[in-house]
This record gives sequence, structure tokens and C-alpha cells, in this order.
Amino acid sequence: MPADEQIRITFLRINLHESSRRRTSGRFRFTARVGGQRFGQAEGQVAQVDTRGGTMQIDLEPLNWTCDVRVAGLERLEIRADGQKLRRIRNRHLGTTRHRFTQVLTIPGTNLLHVPQRTYQDSCRHFTVRYRVETCIRDRFQMHMPYRVFATRAHSGGVTYTTVSGLVRLSRTEICPVIPVPPATTLPPRPVFPTTATASRSLGNAAVLTPSASINTIKNPACIPILSNRQANGNNTAHLTVTYYRPWILFFRADDPRLEWSAEPANRIRFLNNDNHGLSVKVYGTGSSTSADIDVTFTLKFEGEECAKFRAVLGPIKTIPCRFNIFKGPPGPTADPLRHRPRATPEDIQRQMHIANIVLRQSGIQLQLDSNTTLNTTRPGGGPALSVTASAIAGIYTITVPSGQTRNAPWNSIWLQSNYRANIMNFCYLKSSTLGDALGFAFKWPEHPDSTSANNRWDFEENGTPSTSWIQPSGNPPDTAAETVTMKVIAGYKCNNALPANLNGMAVVERDNDPSTADGRKLYGRVIAHEVGHMLSLGHRIENPAIAGGDYDDELTFPPRQNVMLWNAADTAQDFDIAQTKVMRSSALIP
Ligand SMILES: [Zn+2]
Repeated sequence: MPADEQIRITFLRINLHESSRRRTSGRFRFTARVGGQRFGQAEGQVAQVDTRGGTMQIDLEPLNWTCDVRVAGLERLEIRADGQKLRRIRNRHLGTTRHRFTQVLTIPGTNLLHVPQRTYQDSCRHFTVRYRVETCIRDRFQMHMPYRVFATRAHSGGVTYTTVSGLVRLSRTEICPVIPVPPATTLPPRPVFPTTATASRSLGNAAVLTPSASINTIKNPACIPILSNRQANGNNTAHLTVTYYRPWILFFRADDPRLEWSAEPANRIRFLNNDNHGLSVKVYGTGSSTSADIDVTFTLKFEGEECAKFRAVLGPIKTIPCRFNIFKGPPGPTADPLRHRPRATPEDIQRQMHIANIVLRQSGIQLQLDSNTTLNTTRPGGGPALSVTASAIAGIYTITVPSGQTRNAPWNSIWLQSNYRANIMNFCYLKSSTLGDALGFAFKWPEHPDSTSANNRWDFEENGTPSTSWIQPSGNPPDTAAETVTMKVIAGYKCNNALPANLNGMAVVERDNDPSTADGRKLYGRVIAHEVGHMLSLGHRIENPAIAGGDYDDELTFPPRQNVMLWNAADTAQDFDIAQTKVMRSSALIP
């Protein structure tokens, strides 16, 4: 519920003063006014006392002596009480108490009368009236803590809020779609805060990728997966989070009731456990495994006023069957027995695949070990059958190859088809390659069905607000309206025309990295996700400066180092955005 900017005034008690006993002996009656509202005249409200029995006090009935006042737009408020001595002939005026509230807080779009909450005692010579002022926050009238937010107004990328104690402050909230969040200097503009304003709090750090981390570890994904109510849980739903807010003294909490999320179209989004409050929420989509992808937009409100937006694609999880072949050469010399053999075991590969799947989950894509175990022992280039050994894990194999096909293996070798299966994704684990320091390379993938060009590259256009990756203009106020983002996409690729038409594959190159270590797994998980990106037609988001503008440059220049498709394997490169997600999800490689 939004702040409704009301106060409640409740008259509690009237005391006649003992010091003027002669004047205050007899029968008395009191009335009061709050602005134009009158008390003490209606039946059941009459406040009367006869002090000759010794009673100098009237306890007022709170249910009758109370009123709510809307303070937005109000410039003053007077609270007064009048006493009368009741006499046989003509009643006599006893006195009047008055309290004028005139402090007006200016917030954008309106004025707000500030009436501090507390219990007041107003006196005149013969009596004292006691009343309580409470503020209403989220439908509850009470004495709220002074820092509580009483009123909010949105304007140009910020929300101005007013506290119970009467402070007026500017706030800013962001849900950055790129995590880790790029440096502030590269982000769209923020509203200008006074130099004395309290600092911000940032929350969008890089995710920690481990083989045991849950699949939804990377927050603010570009794709919200469709899940059944029964499937959805804390470990598989999309985790959306505020990445920045200012001032930090708002102390937003994970389940903060001041922050409320909603989605459009509302009927396609569910909040896990119906919890749509706080700094972060978990969400999933409704639909089926064949539902078409749509755009969804989330709106975050801070005490009733919109403070941030987040956009994503909603669709089913798309599964790519995968076959892995470890290219094992002859034993090396005693001093270097693994000279021609990658160290990765089938278990290592499974762990790397899980990390790749955490990264790919942002686009609603998952790699799955192929359950078809048909061996393909055709020796590339002819000759005796290839030696292929199935591991204990279906979909992962070891094949015996000549030393030169795994150590310094040519990037376009016909051996890359060894034990491949048609039309799925095939992985070749090599010891090293002729591609220098490359840790992986995608060597063949199909033409993208949406390709609009006979050339190898075409333009993919993405529209929506906020823009994909918050590329400027982002449409995220105070930044100007979002414009079409044009991303260069690679249509298809083959490294060697002699390779079979129905082969799709990538190489994973071990070099000096130890796949059994945490760093090795993390590195290769991200390398696999990156190469999958290429196979699903993505170019580099920031190309190697030496070859920028070349065939693999998507020609977008943001984010600087946070995208999975960054040309090098920087630790920060974890994010896939909406444009990339749309291209990948419509690739011919996805069944
Ligand atoms: Zn690359």
C-alpha cells in the first residue's frame, strides 16, 4: 500500500485547573474543532462534567473523539477546544485553546503539511486539552518511528520521500540487468543529489561460480524461465535484485515491505511463495514447454511510487543435447606422461558443464548430456576404426587420436569430427591447439534461421525499455528514451568445408590449466558458455582491440568487461543480455 499521507488526531482528556477553583466549580461542557470538523455536539460525543462532586477531568471516548486528516496539499491546520460553564440562564465562555500547524514541506508536485506525531497538551487559563497525533503508514495509524517514510513522489529517475520526522530526501533505486554491475561512470546518468546527501549502497557483485552452486546463482537474468508451480523453488527460479540504492540509510532489507514488485503481463509471472516485497524476489513464468517467448517488465515501487524497472524475456528452458569427447594421444615421456592427454576426467567435465549451465541459465538455455550412446568410430580421413571408449557417464567418451590431433591440434582439423553425433552440440577436449592462447574455439555451427543477410554477419535489432544491458540511451530516467539497439550477429560458421554438414562443435583447450581445481572449473565453465554463445551466433561484446570491427565483433560497446562474450576470459565476464538471449534462443542448434 502506498503512503496515504494522512494523520489521525484523537482527543484524549480535558482537565479543569484546580488553581481557579471558584471559576471551575459547576457544570462544564467542551467542544473541539480540527480544521472544519467539529466535536462535542453530536450525540454520544458530548463532553460534560460537574466538578462539584470533585471530578476535574473528562476522559474522552477515543472512538468518538477522533478524525483523520489528509495533509497533502494542506497549508495550515488549527486544532482548538472551547469550554463553557453551563448555567441556568445563559452559559458562560470559559476559554479556548488553539494550536496552529503551519510548517509546509515542499515535495515535487505537492505540499505536505508537517504535523509532528506525539501527544500534545494545549492550555488556556482554566483548562488543558490533551490529544494525540499519529501518522498513517501502509494503512496503520500509530506513533511510527521518526525515520519511517510517510510520503513519496516519483520524478525523473528518483523518488522524493518524506519521513515522519519531517525530513524530505531524494532517493534512487536501480535494478541493473548487468551483473556484476559495471563501474558507475559507465552507467546511465543518475539524478543529481545534493552534495551533502548520504552515500549509496551497491549490491550487484559478481556471482561465485562453483559446481555446487544453484542454477539461479547469477541474479537479474535476461530470461525468466517457465516452471510449473510444483517445480518452482528457491534454487531454480529467477532471482531479481535491487543493485543500487541511495541513500543507504533507507536500510532496505531482503524482505522489506516498503519495496513492492509487480510484473506485466501479470498473468504470466509468479512470485515464489507469493512474496513480491523487498530488495530481492524470486520469480518464474507460467506457460508450457512450447510457449513462445515474450517480453516481460517488472516495476518496483518504493512506498507506492515507481522507483525502478527491469525487463526480461519469458520463455521455456531450452535444452541442447551435448556429446563430449576427450582426445587422448599416446603416452608422453616419463617426465611428462600427459604430454598428449588432457587431464579433464568425465567428472571434471560434468562440473564444468554445471558452471556453464549457471551462466547459460540467464538466457534460459541448458546443456544436457546426450542420452544417445551410439558410437561413431569412423576414422577421419579413412583407415581402421577409431578407438572410442564410453565413460561411466553417458554422453562423455575418450577417443584415441594421433599426438598431433590433441597437442598443438590444428584449429580446422578434420579430426574434430571424431565420434561426433549429428545435429547436437559436440565438444572436443584437446591438450593444446595451434590457436596460441585460446582456451576454446567453436569450429562449426549452423546458419541462424533469422539471418537476413547472405553475408556471414547480419543485424539483429532489439527494442524495449529499459534497453538491453542498459545500453544508452537506456530509457531508464533521467536517461532519455531507449532506442533500437543493433547487434551484429554471426550467421553461421565452418572452419573446414571437408567437415560433415550436420556436425556442430567446439574445442575446449586445456593448456596449462588444471581442470580439477576450483579456478580451472570456473574458467572452463565460462569458456564453454562463451563458445556456446558463438555456436548460437553471438559475436564478441567488446572485441580484442587488435581486431575490433572484424567478423566476430558484435559492435556494441557496453558493458565494458561484464559480458560473457567479452573477447577474453576476464573473471567479471558473466552476463548475457536480452539481445543475446533472443538470438541464442532462436538458433537452429536449439531443438
Ligand atoms: Zn570468443
